[in-house]
Amino acid sequence: MFRVFRSWNPGAPINHSSQDGAAPQLELFAPHWTAERLEARLTADSGHRVRVALTRNRVAMASVRADPDGAVRLRLDRGFGQAPEPVIQALGRYLKGRRRVDWEVVARFAGNLQPTPRAPAPRQLLTRGRVYDLAAIRDRVNHDFFEGRLACRIGWGTRGRRRRRAWSRTIRYGSYIKAQDLVRINPILDDPRVPADFVAYIVFHEMLHAVVPSESGLRHRPHHAGYRHWERRFPDYERMRRLSSELVNVLVG
Ligand SMILES: [Zn+2]
Repeated sequence: MFRVFRSWNPGAPINHSSQDGAAPQLELFAPHWTAERLEARLTADSGHRVRVALTRNRVAMASVRADPDGAVRLRLDRGFGQAPEPVIQALGRYLKGRRRVDWEVVARFAGNLQPTPRAPAPRQLLTRGRVYDLAAIRDRVNHDFFEGRLACRIGWGTRGRRRRRAWSRTIRYGSYIKAQDLVRINPILDDPRVPADFVAYIVFHEMLHAVVPSESGLRHRPHHAGYRHWERRFPDYERMRRLSSELVNVLVG
């Protein structure tokens, strides 16, 4: 949400012209808030005595506590210095009525201050399989195709209960989780019947997702023409594509 406001560019050309020639301002942003200004404003809005500390705290971007003397102690990330007016209003309303809807406005703003924190990484990444060692494969693929520049982690996926559907013979050989910069490979490929270069191809495919972003439109399109253009550089690409459909029958059959 914050990003949307921020992307408003007052200097951008506009279709209509306002009388003084200035770009329209939405006035969503209050002047830079200091702790003192926030204290005064929120004390007035909420009817409580409010103490504000602006901090750098990535864990709790906003927290509210009651002080022993009855004042409300507010700890806010320094990003709140740029908080738009609706957020300040919601904060005042929250301190007054403690209603969840108001806090949600504050929390949403806080959540957008920093890039989304990385999702917790799986506790342990298993790379060494019975047949294939994913770390070694990743390193070679990284060296051969990506100038050794990628730092993604890799691990076998978990062998969950196999969900077999009579009507479906599709299988997901691998995935790339952007938030964790993590490649996961389906352990079904850790099988001597699977050619080594096919495993390398799947690892390559997922690593390529780290470099070639998906096209986002109405629908997410990770395998757009630009992506395929690079993917086809993999040696024996046509054979890999063939294998990817044939192996399903061998491995899941
Ligand atoms: Zn893909």
